[in-house]
Amino acid sequence: MDKKEKRILITGASRGIGNAIARTLIEEGYSVAACYHSSNAFIEPLQKLAEAKGVNLQLLQFDVSNRDAARTALEEDIAAHGVYYGVVCNAGITKDAPFPGMSAEDWDSVLRTNLDSFYNIVHPVVMPMIQSRKPGRIVVITSVSGINGNRGQTNYSASKAGLIGAAKSLAVELGKRNITVNCIAPGVIETDMVSQEIIDYVKPMIALKRIGKPEEVAAAVSFFLSEQASYITKQVLCVDGGMV
Ligand code: NAP
Repeated sequence: MDKKEKRILITGASRGIGNAIARTLIEEGYSVAACYHSSNAFIEPLQKLAEAKGVNLQLLQFDVSNRDAARTALEEDIAAHGVYYGVVCNAGITKDAPFPGMSAEDWDSVLRTNLDSFYNIVHPVVMPMIQSRKPGRIVVITSVSGINGNRGQTNYSASKAGLIGAAKSLAVELGKRNITVNCIAPGVIETDMVSQEIIDYVKPMIALKRIGKPEEVAAAVSFFLSEQASYITKQVLCVDGGMV
């Protein structure tokens, strides 16, 4: 199957890691369905890149925490442009606070955006993937915070640990369909999500003594999507510079 025939759905493609994933995959010749919520400055450059590479680019605007909006947008896109080969669940937020001071809204919005979105995104697209009777790939962007826990991030860690559990169970269910499900757990990556204060605090704990670039996470996504990764499923790959 030609890469251009492989459509990859990416949530949170407007900024940070998701935008690097979209650019990397288009550069590699995949067709992309780029989801975004509120930012649209990325659209023109991404369209130019897709045109230059001769691949298809669809733009889908919806809130990943809105179950009905997600289903409608994804079902319409599949009906118009065909089934996805790959899905990258990347959109996410943080609302950090020490647990005693964490509001119910901070808890709920992080769980809805980061964890419920797994259901909201993957559920509408998975039956069409199965029915296509072709191999497929699901890649979930979780976090080292979901593995190790982190001060001030009970909501975020819960959402990211939940994603790992969901992905592992789905990997077991979809194995016989030749659809792999894997997670990537970034450490600290240079995006809008990360403040200078976090960078200064965490740098001494990273073996490589620097924070990561969005493109370095995108490279791991590209690997999981590749033919070469066909026998890898139910895994969590940390892209964290060796956090100690
Ligand atoms: P970012 O720069 O803040 O970008 C977040 C992206 O998610 C944006 O494209 C945003 O879309 C989208 N998004 C947020 N809420 C959304 C919603 N309700 N509906 C639809 N889209 C929504 O963050 P990032 O650092 O690239 O993070 C990407 C993923 O990596 C997240 O899951 C994050 O938890 C994970 N991660 C990041 C780091 C890090 O150090 N940066 C570390 C570990 C894990 P709009 O701009 O269009 O609103």
